[in-house]
Amino acid sequence: MTETGIALELSGVTKTYRISQGLFGGSKPLRALDNISLQLRKGEVLGLVGESGCGKSTLAKVLLGLEQPTNGEVHVYGQPFASHDRKWIARRIQPIFQDPYSSLNPRKTVREIITLPLRVHDVVESREWDKEVGGMLDLVGLPQRLIDASPSQMSGGQRQRVAIARALIMRPKVVICDEPTSALDVSVQSQILNLLMDLRDELGLTYLFISHNLAVVEHIASRVAVMYLGRVVEQAPADRIFDAPKHPYASALLDSILTPDPSLGVPDVNMDGNFPNPVEPPSGCTFHPRCPSATALCSRKRPEPVDQDSGFVTCHLHDPAHQGEMA
Ligand code: SF4
Repeated sequence: MTETGIALELSGVTKTYRISQGLFGGSKPLRALDNISLQLRKGEVLGLVGESGCGKSTLAKVLLGLEQPTNGEVHVYGQPFASHDRKWIARRIQPIFQDPYSSLNPRKTVREIITLPLRVHDVVESREWDKEVGGMLDLVGLPQRLIDASPSQMSGGQRQRVAIARALIMRPKVVICDEPTSALDVSVQSQILNLLMDLRDELGLTYLFISHNLAVVEHIASRVAVMYLGRVVEQAPADRIFDAPKHPYASALLDSILTPDPSLGVPDVNMDGNFPNPVEPPSGCTFHPRCPSATALCSRKRPEPVDQDSGFVTCHLHDPAHQGEMA
């Protein structure tokens, strides 16, 4: 159930990197996040989808305090990120990453892995650690006998449960789930998704659920934001966006649900051209070289978000100010 209020808010968040162009080429800016504004309501699951390179992972890093935005602000439960340190952020936002094989240290035991955030941030007395770990194992459905096991002795699903326990031991309010089931067998994926939803209900968590797998997002998300080249091009309630996407890119992405192997990524369904070079993005609407609905206006003018159905669409087709030029 969704509580009232905002858990996480991004206002105009931009992240620009300088990319070297070789020995004599100097550097060029790469705008990985381009003026992102989003709100996560308390208790909801916001699905964030888009192709590799669209900025999803950069957004996760900014929200975890691993990267500073070049411009814009992030607020969690109404408080600004900028005035707090990593420990403050870690007690409010935690990540669950894609690959439990590489995200867990194979030389550590489950006990050591799960208590690592407590050690790093010094938030619980060490004599309490075993009790904390025991509680977390129960919470994520792992037997207590695994407390001294290493990740190499565990299945993929068990490892991801350890990763979830490690994230939750800091009692965060918001969890960034970055492709949390992509590395798992299909049979295990639904168990982990069900566990995440049970934990959300039990602990009142809010999830940003990042995935290229739209079938999974449709299953779990209450709202969806679609990213393309650093911008959110459409955001809407999940049922509306899956029934009737408005942005041409969102539409093409949804067609890709029918792909026989979702692990291959998002195919270019009804789209011309490849994903553009983000260092030299197309003019106007950056999607225009691939868009079946593009007009001359699209290569000239950058579209701005237009409110639609409890969300927004960033496309001239849906902007009343440009209806004449898009006909
Ligand atoms: Fe396509 Fe133009 Fe809309 Fe961009 S603004 S998505 S190019 S119709």
